[in-house]
Amino acid sequence: MKKIYLYGNWKMNMTCGETKDFFAKMSRALEDESISGHLGTELEIAVFPAYTSIASAMAGKGRVIVGAQNVYFEHKGAFTGEVSIPMLSELGCTHVIIGHSERRQIFKESNELLASKLKAVLDAGLTPVFCYGETLEERESGETFNVFREQLTQGLSKLSKDEIERIIFAYEPVWAIGTGKSATSEEAEDACKYSRELISKLSNGAERIVILYGGSVKPDNAKELLSMPDINGALVGGASLKAESFLDIYKAYV
Ligand code: PEP
Repeated sequence: MKKIYLYGNWKMNMTCGETKDFFAKMSRALEDESISGHLGTELEIAVFPAYTSIASAMAGKGRVIVGAQNVYFEHKGAFTGEVSIPMLSELGCTHVIIGHSERRQIFKESNELLASKLKAVLDAGLTPVFCYGETLEERESGETFNVFREQLTQGLSKLSKDEIERIIFAYEPVWAIGTGKSATSEEAEDACKYSRELISKLSNGAERIVILYGGSVKPDNAKELLSMPDINGALVGGASLKAESFLDIYKAYV
């Protein structure tokens, strides 16, 4: 059975108290052999809380990875409102989401900025979860693969082949995020297959590249999506806010 990466992006949800409750439920649910028996070799679970809830998550996380949703590339200085990589490392974060479509669209993060963030995160030995994907307008005008080429080649432009292999990629069609309308498993597979080929040309080969699909993944569509050969896991928003529905995604797959 292939290894599945089950990653949860909480966005601007979950207070410290709610985070504590989540991990209390999570640790009870992880006593279930159908999950705990797979955790480690066949299943990797990560949760990405808001900065303010990271310490609460660390306290209760058990074998779950805790990461951050964003980071700035400079290590310190006059960057009001930003958080640095050493600050996240000190909290115990090993993973950071870079380039989520909400960062690209609402906060206008450019491919150039994301390239600097990727480089800084990798230099510090952390694992970036790098998101890319097309809008509905881009898909409908036949631009999907051009968008991948632009976001991936520009985003990865500061990296060596070895560094590119340390990234966890997340294909997230913007039109499927938070809309309840997931890509079909065929659409998601086509996109991940194409991007795997593209990334493999920029790195040392296709096999070692990890690509997650994100966009309205729920327990009822998880099996089809996760069974696709070029999809290594899911980046989950809404359904990751409750420990039960989050883990049900994996249960639906196995
Ligand atoms: C996301 O935020 O990355 C995401 C995929 O959200 P949702 O699962 O709610 O569509």
